[in-house]
Amino acid sequence: MIIHIKANTPEAKIAEMAQSLSGIRVKTGDGELLVTPSKTKEVSEAYAAFAEKTFVFDDDIQLASSKYMSEKRSIKLGSVEIGGNSNNTIMITGPCSVENEEQIVSSAKLCVELGVKVLRAGAFKPRTSPYTFQGMGLDGLKLLDKMRQQFGLAIITEVRDSTHLDAILEYADIVQIGAKSMYDHGILKGCAKSNKPVLLKRGFGTTLQEFVQAAEFILSGGNEQVILCERGIRTFETKTRFTLDLCGVAFLKEYTNLPVILDPSHAIGYAYGVPDLSRACVAMGVDGLLVETHPNPKVAKSDASQQLTHAEFTTLYNSLKPVATAVGRHIV
Ligand code: PEP
Ligand code: MN
Repeated sequence: MIIHIKANTPEAKIAEMAQSLSGIRVKTGDGELLVTPSKTKEVSEAYAAFAEKTFVFDDDIQLASSKYMSEKRSIKLGSVEIGGNSNNTIMITGPCSVENEEQIVSSAKLCVELGVKVLRAGAFKPRTSPYTFQGMGLDGLKLLDKMRQQFGLAIITEVRDSTHLDAILEYADIVQIGAKSMYDHGILKGCAKSNKPVLLKRGFGTTLQEFVQAAEFILSGGNEQVILCERGIRTFETKTRFTLDLCGVAFLKEYTNLPVILDPSHAIGYAYGVPDLSRACVAMGVDGLLVETHPNPKVAKSDASQQLTHAEFTTLYNSLKPVATAVGRHIV
């Protein structure tokens, strides 16, 4: 249940309500809320006097629920609005990892050339093996910062663990929580205290319910800017790296108020399928697309098989507009 507390309710009364209803107090731009585990509308008489509005849900989706907010939350990614009334489908691209200055400058120039406003690259990489490239760390973040200053791009980069969360929050415009970190409460709660938008990726073994509940940790901690990212789940299929769950995307669009961005690159894991999948994603009327690109994918230090060349991405980018237009959306 979400209770909108009436303005001017005494602090002691709010604290008493929070305690007796086992609720979490959430401060938002519109005032204070109390989010409680209760699924029945019995707010006692004493407390009803302090409730402006009450929302009761029959499942565990609360602040993220479309029954709470029927419109998608409006979130600014750099200068671009997604969600709200915007009908924008934002393009996000860049290499899997920042590898050196020449490489990331080339990626930034691709963005500028096409009008893509958000550059994405990892500096702290959550690799499966300890013997592979782990990312440039802080030096990578500094290079991304340089790209923002030189090219005016918004930067999205991932936090691997909470030891470097402060550095990520300092350098990134948008924080990415990766599929493998999605359950990390240190990261979720740290991001909840920040005022930066958070792109939360779905774990590859995560149900939709668990995914949305991870988002609830960020929302209930006070950060209202959460974007969900479907990046493929693990199924019995091994020919592709993961399976892009478009049914899940339909669910998230219907039942949540959070913008949804799709990542076909990590889902299929191979560049050959990324253009077709990207068009399918845009046709679903989602809020954004994240596609990995590299100036020379063959020598990429991570995710080499799935990154598009800049020429391939340019062709793809130019093919997306009619698809977006057909479903009433604008590519930004
Ligand atoms: C990435 O975005 O480069 C990445 C590691 O993605 P995921 O967390 O989806 O595996
Ligand atoms: Mn990657």
